[in-house]
Amino acid sequence: MSGEGSSANGNKKVALITGITGQDGSYLAEFLIKKGYEVHGILRRSSSFNTGRIQHLYGQPACHTGGQMHLHYGDLTDTTCLISIITKIRPKEIYNLGAQSHVKVSFELSEYTAQVDALGTLRLLEAVRTAGLEKETRIYQASTSELYGKVVEVPQTEKTPFYPRSPYACAKLYGYWIVVNYREAYGMFACNGLLFNHESPRRGENFVTRKITRGVAKIQLGLMKHLELGNLDCKRDWGHAKDYVEAMWLMLQQEEPEDFVVATGEAHSVREFVEKAFSYVGRKIAWRGEGENETGHDADTDELLVKVNAKYFRPTEVDLLLGDPSKAKQKLGWKPRVTFEQLVRDMVEADLQLMKKNPEA
Ligand code: NDP
Ligand code: GDP
Repeated sequence: MSGEGSSANGNKKVALITGITGQDGSYLAEFLIKKGYEVHGILRRSSSFNTGRIQHLYGQPACHTGGQMHLHYGDLTDTTCLISIITKIRPKEIYNLGAQSHVKVSFELSEYTAQVDALGTLRLLEAVRTAGLEKETRIYQASTSELYGKVVEVPQTEKTPFYPRSPYACAKLYGYWIVVNYREAYGMFACNGLLFNHESPRRGENFVTRKITRGVAKIQLGLMKHLELGNLDCKRDWGHAKDYVEAMWLMLQQEEPEDFVVATGEAHSVREFVEKAFSYVGRKIAWRGEGENETGHDADTDELLVKVNAKYFRPTEVDLLLGDPSKAKQKLGWKPRVTFEQLVRDMVEADLQLMKKNPEA
């Protein structure tokens, strides 16, 4: 249970999070700070503000002046900075969450996605070796259900063969295997979390769930006419990010490094997500037409609320992801707490509050 032990830096447990400014990074930072960790995060240089999701943490005296949270400028494409940060802070645990994480964008930024998501993982592992910490530092790798892609079995387990369907998934496939290889070759404590989609009010605005809940809030407040979406019939196993970061931490507290599926075991379509989200503001959707010509209308007033736009279709789609989290339940004692209904409600409510405060958001 090294995560509970003392670190090279006095008695503090030291963790490094790449991707701390992202959805998962922000929840994980909160989680680790509550557990008493000294949390370090890698911050990308950006011309605009990119710390919105962790601003509330950085504002706390314990973090800002008490030394419980530190940010370091860095990038997964820059080997030197990774070596220098890891050598300096000697983390007990590293959570590699940094990534170009958007599947559709990866078709347009395929080389960059490979640089960050594939080679970035290798750079991080090598930085740990260069710092001489391969026997001390435990590493969590943010692997993904996208590896299953065109699924060969349902539900997917740790043993299901992979069939990636996007440059993002291909890059993450390299990340997965290089972690397995370094574990076997150098005895490193490195784990892959095969996490299925997980969402929250902090989810990036161009992922489908958040796009829908933002759209519902804007339409409800009269700030937008209708929502445009791509494929409505894909199914995902959607959980809440808050639950999933706990599974990441649990993986690093085990006796042996292993890979785990983290999922709810329930799949819902994009269409169902739309219907559920609108139902929280009292609107029922009546669907009309098919494929590119499909539209969704308010069943009472006939007002157009949803329109399919082919520009959101992907060159190769992942139709169905459904995870079997039995191993995580059994070995980690982990289970999801937030249901699909609660997740959708939480996101719609948060976006209604956000848009009421700031209609430009
Ligand atoms: P986000 O897109 O919200 O966050 C990604 C983070 O990576 C951000 O902090 C981003 O910085 C950072 N980042 C991007 N490029 C680089 C780079 N070149 N160097 C360093 N950092 C970089 O993703 P999530 O929080 O949702 O996901 C976390 C991880 O889990 C990702 O690796 C993702 O691929 C993976 N994953 C996510 C799933 C999900 O459903 N959310 C499912 C399975 C896996 P900035 O804020 O500056 O953009
Ligand atoms: P992904 O599972 O990591 O690709 O997460 P996304 O939230 O980006 O997409 C989930 C599913 O929703 C995919 O099958 C998409 O094709 C589908 N989808 C339908 N319309 C949209 C849309 O407008 N934006 C996004 N991002 N996805 C959409």
